[in-house]
Amino acid sequence: MATEANNWSVDRFADIEVLRYEVPAFEQLSLQQKCLVYYLTEAAQWGRDILWDQNCKYNLPIRHICEAVYTNYKGDRNDAEWKAFEQYMKQLWFANGIHHHYSNAKFKPGFSQQWLEQQIGQLPAELGLGVALIGFSAPEIERVIFDSTYMSIKVNQADGVDLITSSACNFYEGLTQQEVEDYYARLKDPKDTTPVMYGLNSKLVKEDGKIVEHTWKVGGMYGKTIEHIVENLQLALPYAENDQQRTVIESLIKYYNSGDLKDFDTYSIEWVKDLQSKVDFINGFIESYNDPLGMRGSWEGMVNFKDSANTARTEIVSANAQWFEDHSPIDDRFRKPVVKGVTAKVITAAILAGDSYPATPIGINLPNSNWIRAQHGSKSVSIDNITAAYDAAAAGNGFNEEFMWSEAEVQQAKKYAHYVDNIHTDLHECLGHGSGQLLPGVDPDALKAHGSTLEEARADIFALYYMADPKLVELGVMPDMEAYKAGYYQQMMNGLMTQLVRILPGDNLEEAHMRNRALIAYWTLERAKQDNAEKPALEFCKRDGKSYVRINDYQKLRQYFGELLGELQRIKSEGDYEAGRKLVETYAVKVDPTLHNEVLERYKGLDIAPYKGFVNPRYQIAKDAQGQITDVKVIYGSESYVEQMLRYGCEYSVAE
Ligand code: ZN
Repeated sequence: MATEANNWSVDRFADIEVLRYEVPAFEQLSLQQKCLVYYLTEAAQWGRDILWDQNCKYNLPIRHICEAVYTNYKGDRNDAEWKAFEQYMKQLWFANGIHHHYSNAKFKPGFSQQWLEQQIGQLPAELGLGVALIGFSAPEIERVIFDSTYMSIKVNQADGVDLITSSACNFYEGLTQQEVEDYYARLKDPKDTTPVMYGLNSKLVKEDGKIVEHTWKVGGMYGKTIEHIVENLQLALPYAENDQQRTVIESLIKYYNSGDLKDFDTYSIEWVKDLQSKVDFINGFIESYNDPLGMRGSWEGMVNFKDSANTARTEIVSANAQWFEDHSPIDDRFRKPVVKGVTAKVITAAILAGDSYPATPIGINLPNSNWIRAQHGSKSVSIDNITAAYDAAAAGNGFNEEFMWSEAEVQQAKKYAHYVDNIHTDLHECLGHGSGQLLPGVDPDALKAHGSTLEEARADIFALYYMADPKLVELGVMPDMEAYKAGYYQQMMNGLMTQLVRILPGDNLEEAHMRNRALIAYWTLERAKQDNAEKPALEFCKRDGKSYVRINDYQKLRQYFGELLGELQRIKSEGDYEAGRKLVETYAVKVDPTLHNEVLERYKGLDIAPYKGFVNPRYQIAKDAQGQITDVKVIYGSESYVEQMLRYGCEYSVAE
């Protein structure tokens, strides 16, 4: 059993397990499609350094120095300092910087400053550390690595502090939160019905008392890196499958050249319209979770192609989008009269890059622009080869047996979990985020720092509510009226306790998805208590000193979910910041330390890594004597995690 799982596991360190994934049916693509995938994967991999720099301005110099130390080390590899350094290096690579990819907290090095200084001192002079350190001094870099109070959190979401000055991410410089908010309040026209995504592709900086935006584009910030992205997009162009896809690639190139967010909107609209192509991709400044104000997009890349067999399932769900919107338990004023163009498909990822690498989402719904979604629709995907890799690696790890209340829940999960997970992703991504509407004049950013958490909660609760709807059985996407119970149990157990394995003792919940799950679960627990029933629908129980989650009434739970969906939709539609903040602060931030310790203890016994990510396969082109590509091959297992990271650092990095 263990050997089986090890086939998928390529590295293990700290709280991380690195897996590999397969790209099934790549061989069945046409040569043209394979070439398209190849150049798009090259374009995707070129954006890596932009993300590193966005995550913190010290990330790249630290990576360059640490990689130099790592590759030149000649000492004892059993030495404790070296082992601690090796782990730190692997953590850096995984997080694309010095802050944990999920908790946002800065890594604590287990090696001494003295040891690192010694290693740097021994480096060959020709390594050009001067280049790596441009604009930075060695003492400054060492302070960033070793002073745990300095740059301690990447994205601060705490209540009542200046989120800009207290976050280490590299999106703002010399500005307070108030100044940033005032700047955009002046810029935004409340009457504009098609606003651009302000700040998405720029850094906001105060220079000589003036606020200016520096844009990532050709000729702008990271211009040389972006030239490489554009070059590969241009190489991909001749292999486009159809005119629409060609337009998509051309409009993305135009946007990278101009940096104009109106061009990005044009690109997004063309991208939504491209439904016929087998191959698809994401490449650019996309999700804004890494900005405490939720405006700036982290660089992300992914190339994928449609998994036709599995897509049939999500097509049924999206074809019925209007039915779900009409029957949603929300106020009629918040309902979309006409749901447009919700398309969903199951895809096979061919490459993960930028903010999707090595840790990756299993579902994506884009674009993020509210008015484009409303007028042109959105594309929603779930990534089946990634989910399959997770499931294969998790099989038989003992987690459910340890944390679930009884054998009945364990069996329920065995029978339905993979199924329910997929449906949950479909409902969350292709219906949940796209459902409902803002009241006229409501600022889409009204929920400010809590916007991401509340939006994820809204999409999740939508999925939970409908998972138990007989309509899904009627549509043939759920097997019976028992299956949803596996989803409910899993979600409550995770939100109430087991997700705590992902954070350290004493930490609050910071990440938007974790907060969303806690919000839903703890709100529901409280709601069940209020009902004062002899047996609450949802409760914590103790057995042999261990805590368990019990669900006594699944249908009642669904009723509560409906209530919460109505309230979350009201908060979003009205832009009720106060009510949203209260929900988040009451249910989604604080952690019960006793329960947390218990969960960590039990989890430790299972020896499972709480976070997983992936190494990419390699793509190799074969050419004939005339230089024409004759084939593209996908290669697995040719390099380790460390080898891949070092290669990416060499092949996809250029001095800016
Ligand atoms: Zn979501």
